[in-house]
Amino acid sequence: MAETAEQLAEVRSSIAAATVRASRPLDSVVLVAVSKTFPVEVISEAVQAGQRVFGESKQQEAEVKIEALPSSLEWHFIGRIQRNKVRKLLGQFEVLHAVDSLRLAQHIETVAADLGCYPKVFLQINTAAEASKAGFSEDELRAAMPDLLEMKRLEILGLMSIPPAAEDVEKTRPWFAQLRELRDLLEQEYQVRLPFLSMGMSHDFEVAIEEGATHVRVGSAIFGHRSYRVEGELG
Ligand SMILES: *Cc1c(COP(=O)(O)O)cnc(C)c1O
Repeated sequence: MAETAEQLAEVRSSIAAATVRASRPLDSVVLVAVSKTFPVEVISEAVQAGQRVFGESKQQEAEVKIEALPSSLEWHFIGRIQRNKVRKLLGQFEVLHAVDSLRLAQHIETVAADLGCYPKVFLQINTAAEASKAGFSEDELRAAMPDLLEMKRLEILGLMSIPPAAEDVEKTRPWFAQLRELRDLLEQEYQVRLPFLSMGMSHDFEVAIEEGATHVRVGSAIFGHRSYRVEGELG
């Protein structure tokens, strides 16, 4: 089945076109291929086609795949992070995309100190204040920033969000712009660098790139329709 490779190529060329429209270098965007619910054989096709970065949202499901696939791959955890899974996640994943509270960040910091590692994380922002979604509100984030910045282990890459899905992607654009603007403000207020923005999924990654996304999390546009929902799925 060459379908995965074809769809991957299509997504890549859409990413390239979006970076041109945004006058950004092609290598400023990381494609995180979201392989949740898909088996090792399908992921292998993407690996064959040159894909190296994959996103998963359940630790147990991912563990099997990580063990079965080449160790040269880079795994990003995009799902909701359970405290009791943090130790395993830090051993298996390069980047955690959804750190959604100060308490969780503190827990990760403690486990990281214990393991002697320096986790790369995104802070998840609940841009539209949706009850169904996790994440810091802007006020919560501002209150937490001093503590977050004091952490010796956490490497905060930037902000992540999952805006409300809309049929018309232009309706989603303002949420992406808002995340970028929040990042810009925080960089000024706290004199820090938050260089990366994890935003954009299959339906809207091109608009996200136009608004500054550096990490797009794309699943179904590459692998096809998921036949079941993953428990704890955020999107
Ligand atoms: C499933 C998921 C994605 C990918 O969604 P698609 O619409 O299939 O591209 C991206 N981000 C998160 C957080 C997800 O849970």
